[in-house]
Amino acid sequence: MPAMSNDPRQILEETFGYRSFRGPQEAVIRALIAGEDALVLMPTGGGKSLCYQVPALAREGTGIVISPLIALMQDQVSALRELGVRAGFLNSTLAAQEVFATERALREGRIDLLYVAPERLLQQRTLELLHESRIALFAIDEAHCVSQWGHDFRADYLALDILQREFPGVPRIALTATADMRTREEIVTRLGLQDAKQFIVGFDRPNIRYRIRQKERPKQQLLAFLREEQAGNAGIVYCLSRAKVDETASWLQGEGFHALPYHAGMDKDERARNQSRFLREESVVMVATIAFGMGIDKPDVRFVAHLDLPKSIEAYYQETGRAGRDGEPATALLLYGFEDVVKLRQMALQSEGNETFKRHEQQRLTAMLGLCEITSCRRQALLRYFGDTLDTPCGNCDNCLDPPEEWDGSEAARMALSCVYRTGQRFGANHVIDVLRGASNDRIQSFDHHHLSTFGIGRDIPAEQWRSVFRQLVARGLLDVDPEGYGGLRLGAASRPVLRGDESVWLRRDRKAAPVRAIGKREQSVQVDAVDQPLWEALRACRKRLADAQNVPPYVIFHDATLRAMLAERPLNARELRAVSGVGDSKLERYGEAFLAVLRDEAL
Ligand code: ADP
Ligand code: ZN
Repeated sequence: MPAMSNDPRQILEETFGYRSFRGPQEAVIRALIAGEDALVLMPTGGGKSLCYQVPALAREGTGIVISPLIALMQDQVSALRELGVRAGFLNSTLAAQEVFATERALREGRIDLLYVAPERLLQQRTLELLHESRIALFAIDEAHCVSQWGHDFRADYLALDILQREFPGVPRIALTATADMRTREEIVTRLGLQDAKQFIVGFDRPNIRYRIRQKERPKQQLLAFLREEQAGNAGIVYCLSRAKVDETASWLQGEGFHALPYHAGMDKDERARNQSRFLREESVVMVATIAFGMGIDKPDVRFVAHLDLPKSIEAYYQETGRAGRDGEPATALLLYGFEDVVKLRQMALQSEGNETFKRHEQQRLTAMLGLCEITSCRRQALLRYFGDTLDTPCGNCDNCLDPPEEWDGSEAARMALSCVYRTGQRFGANHVIDVLRGASNDRIQSFDHHHLSTFGIGRDIPAEQWRSVFRQLVARGLLDVDPEGYGGLRLGAASRPVLRGDESVWLRRDRKAAPVRAIGKREQSVQVDAVDQPLWEALRACRKRLADAQNVPPYVIFHDATLRAMLAERPLNARELRAVSGVGDSKLERYGEAFLAVLRDEAL
């Protein structure tokens, strides 16, 4: 559909079926339409795509979208075509015939949006093609790929400053969800965006509920979470090792879940197949290492569960950020325990790299552990870490919804530290706890530890609570883990004032090993009411049928939010259906009748 109008609001309404812009979208779009450059920093799910799609439709010519995520291009283009937008892509997966057809369409001005991989764009042939065509704008997606310090660095991105020189006067927009200041500055200098207008949105993801629990019986905890709260939902379960991924996936399959494994050790085809099933089928639980995720823009991932502790807050935030791109409620669950703390402390000590690097790793881990142990709002702590502020507690994290108790652990901490000292700073927590509790076993006898002054001084505290104390002491750096990897504990640099009694230590009281309790579930539920269930299922089935017929993921037909709006508004004719958010002209024409038939059936 050639843009009939160049009014952004009208395009939003007619093509995308949305009522209003979000955040700075409209300002970004108007800047580009006026020919200015822009830098957009928005969290995942913030709505970055519209920032270049709408102006590409409003301006004359084709919007060129540069993206490193080749695997996504087909789905992105399918989604746009469903909206009646003339979209195409150029990358190495296309056959020569398709390339020619797309190139011709571009020259003849029959494409609104063209997705191109950076290496493709930089080829002489492509640059010539672009010079022969009319270009509305350049959108540089995943712009943080220019950063040589980041994980996603792509050398080809460095050469993208050519656009400014070869196509002066064509507006450029760079987009990223990456938070930090240094990356932002690199984007500006490397892409020559000094004059670009900057649009920076905070990094909060208000629809994600953060929950961090002690790992007790992790499988049971995960099972309860999946069954009681996430039944039928798609999500990701992250594990640290490949072996654990395989094991967890097959265990979940045995429990009746549609679970699939994903890690870098798998055969490439099988990995690709599992990824595609995650996108195309509903209710898939992807069990994966962190190899899974880059560029997964499935909007309806309802949960991300971590069975192992991430190494840093950056990693945690990025991984949990894959939940709830559609803005609907989503949950991030992290289970962690004493072993995680010890293991990661050791990994950071043993990691390759110089002392500065190791110290840095330890600090990042300490920050992550701090997030696990805090008793105040998790979101406030997360945002503070990224230099953002949230003035009041969020009301949508476990600590806000169900405030944990604290207890004065000063004396317990002193006992623990001095017992570590008296036993020679080389034993693991289990043995030190045995000594504190006055246990009688061979080990204690053979080391003569029953004659120590700290023997039995902690018998009033149950072993489980001692483990909690030790975990928190290691988390805070009051105890250090030995670098050799045997789990031996030593006094940390900060332990002196505590030992001397000059500093008090408040500890978090762990909850009993109940299954992961759904807190404040009602106001957050994405589950539909029981009475609506049959219609909901019928709408989803209709969507799946249409999606399969075209070999696209279901969300390309309609997002969950749109189906949910249908459920609430019960449209019975085309005019009413068109009024539902997410239903634009093109989709009304293509799918209106199919969905109206389902809705009318239900109304009988
Ligand atoms: P990002 O690329 O920033 O992660 P997307 O562009 O994929 O985010 O948008 C996230 C979701 O929000 C998509 O489902 C998109 O359709 C929806 N969306 C974006 N802008 C609006 C809007 N103005 N009104 C309603 N939904 C929107
Ligand atoms: Zn909170």
